[in-house]
Amino acid sequence: MEKYTVLVVEDDRSMGVYLSSILSKNNYDVHYTRSGKKALSLVYELSPHLIIMDYGLPDISGTEVICRIRRHLDIPIVIISGRNREEDKVRALDLGADDYITKPFGTYEMLARLRVALRHSCCQRANELSIYRYKNMMIDFEKRNIVLAENEVHLTQNEYRIVSLLAKNGGKVLTHEYIINKVWGCAVNDDNKILRVNITNIRRKIEENPTEPEYIFTEIGVGYRMHESVV
Ligand code: CA
Repeated sequence: MEKYTVLVVEDDRSMGVYLSSILSKNNYDVHYTRSGKKALSLVYELSPHLIIMDYGLPDISGTEVICRIRRHLDIPIVIISGRNREEDKVRALDLGADDYITKPFGTYEMLARLRVALRHSCCQRANELSIYRYKNMMIDFEKRNIVLAENEVHLTQNEYRIVSLLAKNGGKVLTHEYIINKVWGCAVNDDNKILRVNITNIRRKIEENPTEPEYIFTEIGVGYRMHESVV
């Protein structure tokens, strides 16, 4: 049986020790740190399969840790937190956490959620699209090019990143904040203007009639969505 490497990030020592011992007993290879900064360096050192992290850390916030990891890596991140507010959960998930478990939690439930997060990440990798097709559009993710009715579309780097993100998640609505974080990282504030401007420019290049888009749909107040790839 494959042993998964898990990084536990928890400043509360008794909780950290408890998590580490449960996970070790369940055949995980466990590494434990109490610091968010240390977690960021361990992520690159250990390449864990999964990160289980407390949201409230003393040195840098859980939010910041998720953002920094998500800029480069797709490792599943499961948040454990004493905060039960809906907005905290939405924010963590928006930034790219895979799941959110509220303290106190049952051991078996926690273990089941970790298995789900691991399963999703494995499936995602196996199903990763190399080509996207819908109507007259074809995107080749390896070559990083977009062809529309046999003509190559010239997008800026960020425009391409937005389109490929939406295409790889075809059928799903991606929130403004999620897209901004994936494309620009956390440096950009919550203002959606930069995204709106980019979407307008992309639509000028790919849509016949940008006011009635066929490829990138607006979900008012929420975000954007592309159709699922039809291959
Ligand atoms: Ca804490």
